[in-house]
Amino acid sequence: MVRVGGYRRISDDDTGTGDGVRTQGEDVDDLAAGHGWDVVPYEDNDLSAFKRNVRRPDFERMLKDLKAGVIDGITALDLDRLIRQPRDLERIIDIYETSKRKLVFDTCTASYDLTTPEGRFMARLFVNIANKSSADTSRRIKRHQLDKAKRGEEGGGPAPFGWSPDDKSKLWPQESTPLRKAIDDFLSNKRIATIAREWEAAGIVSRTTGKPFSQTNFSRLLTRPRNCGLRVHQGEIMRDEEGSYVRGVWEPICTVEEWEAICAVFENRRQPGKDTATKYLLSGITRCGSCGEKMRGQKRKDGKHTYVCVANKPGACGKVSVVGEQTDDLIRQLVWRDADNSVKASAMPPTQWPDQAQLDAVESDIANLRTQWKAKEVSSSTFVFMIGELESQQTQLRHARALFTAEAATAANGTVNLRDAWKGMEIEQQRRVVRHTLSAVLIHPARKGLRFDPLRVEPLIKK
Ligand SMILES: [Zn+2]
Repeated sequence: MVRVGGYRRISDDDTGTGDGVRTQGEDVDDLAAGHGWDVVPYEDNDLSAFKRNVRRPDFERMLKDLKAGVIDGITALDLDRLIRQPRDLERIIDIYETSKRKLVFDTCTASYDLTTPEGRFMARLFVNIANKSSADTSRRIKRHQLDKAKRGEEGGGPAPFGWSPDDKSKLWPQESTPLRKAIDDFLSNKRIATIAREWEAAGIVSRTTGKPFSQTNFSRLLTRPRNCGLRVHQGEIMRDEEGSYVRGVWEPICTVEEWEAICAVFENRRQPGKDTATKYLLSGITRCGSCGEKMRGQKRKDGKHTYVCVANKPGACGKVSVVGEQTDDLIRQLVWRDADNSVKASAMPPTQWPDQAQLDAVESDIANLRTQWKAKEVSSSTFVFMIGELESQQTQLRHARALFTAEAATAANGTVNLRDAWKGMEIEQQRRVVRHTLSAVLIHPARKGLRFDPLRVEPLIKK
């Protein structure tokens, strides 16, 4: 009795319920019965043979059995179900050519006799054509996915944490509510470790691992662009032709501003002190009492810092400096006292970022410039130069807005004692708080003989 392997495979484009495998199976059984062969079933469900890295366990098992003499041949619905990669066919042909036994081969749709050179030639030709059409399909699918991303539609895969397993466009309160609260807490300077512990205590776990979130995974969760409705494709946040974000079709958990604020905080943590302008509490806030220019923080050899008037622009005298530490301390005390008073008076700081109109203007300039360039109204070199300028302004403004939002969230939770919160705050947030209270700190020229004279420091309090 001849025993053949009856191979069935259902691919991605079938229904995925297994029905396809069963139908193929019946056809293969009929074919084998016609030859008088016994069928040993092999089936790989829901896999695409075209993806090189996808292994088909039953296909591999069948080849092994064929080599070992467990079966005497192979049948399948068609060659396409059996093989998509030319090298799969070569492996099968190799077994047929080297076997000392008499092997059989057949498919329901076309007959290829792999035991003869003509049959092998026809099979190779067919597989090459099928392989090409599969590559075309793959390209078409990629194109289709990009189009979907451009429209802000969902990609494949299960619902991400926070959204309903039944409908990815809808928030799932049992996950989205704690996540929303975590975003508020984080923007109010609560530490990641603390929030992660609270989640663990509340039994909130990752849907994929079933385990509590590690700090790293928690950080990833907070910085997902999806949270504020931005669509990511192949690792890139999608933008439209005007350079604006493409909005996803799902309900967002937070605003773009909040998401940017979260990312800004993480960015600053990763690169502490990268920007010298924001390294010290009062850089750019202190002003020279002699010439009125902004003073810059500078690191001294002993590791401490000084605020200096740098004569690097017209009008700057370059003659005044003051020790940083004591000045910072003085201003800190002042700001804390002011915060105590304002909490008592329950005065709320503005929640609307004041420079939004400026950012809107820059973004509309960018859009106009692109339009003009496309219409060939400006040269490419002008375009490249101007777009660089505008985008750098846009980045700075967005960054400023992000920090403002973070600070506004801090201030909104006004019950937090500023003294207690101060240590856990990022330097940018501390500077925001200072700027909220003071318009500048005037540093008057030094009088001889005094190392630090608090009388030289004149805070200009905002009205
Ligand atoms: Zn000066």
